[in-house]
Amino acid sequence: MVLTAGFGGAARAAAQSVAQAPSAGSSGYERKVIVLDAAHGGSDIGTQISEHVLEKDVTLALAVRLRSLLAARGFSVVLTRDSDTAISTDQRAETANRAHAVACLVLHATASGTGVHLATSALNAIDSTTPGAAVPWDDAQAAYLTQSQKLAAGIGDAVTRSQVPLVAAKAWMKPLDNLTCAAVSVEIAPLGRGAEETAVTDQGYQQRVSEALAGALIFWRNQASGRAAVDAPGVGRAADAGARP
Ligand SMILES: [Zn+2]
Repeated sequence: MVLTAGFGGAARAAAQSVAQAPSAGSSGYERKVIVLDAAHGGSDIGTQISEHVLEKDVTLALAVRLRSLLAARGFSVVLTRDSDTAISTDQRAETANRAHAVACLVLHATASGTGVHLATSALNAIDSTTPGAAVPWDDAQAAYLTQSQKLAAGIGDAVTRSQVPLVAAKAWMKPLDNLTCAAVSVEIAPLGRGAEETAVTDQGYQQRVSEALAGALIFWRNQASGRAAVDAPGVGRAADAGARP
């Protein structure tokens, strides 16, 4: 079965329950929408962070924390899940792609390594697609990868300015590969090592990382406002060309 993103994905998604409808926007593409995907959930616990803490709970806590920071700055935030539920990566991507977001962050957590681990899709970037054209679901991110890499660079700068160590990589991973917007996977790891270690459950550390992410997203939104009519690649965005604020 060939699945498609964009219009095909939206049609396919119509049969699914809708977590949150996209914000109303006259252009159909709302540049203030951010999608946060708290990875794992329900029976998919992710990794064991500590004896009593599971990754799925840390990712949700981080998503909720980041949502309130972003909402306070005028973003409309769509969470792929806001409770302890199991959802497939395709469902996550469908929710994200329907939202026509300016950016999507996939949130993970780990007890190993240190700092923040960023990943963009390992797909080969495609420079442009025909506006409105359906793109293969499995490679949907390819047309947005250049944007994703710029977003990752911005997030990396913000994380580094917060004096949190940074590891950047590329990865084949769902739902990242299926997303039709600038998309980055952000994995939070402990800060420091040994006796000096700050766990990913530490509220202050979570806040520090969230503020760095929010700062990078504000910068990204402001850039996107000026860039959208020039190079936003095309799935379903033909109507946006004249919609620059
Ligand atoms: Zn994970």
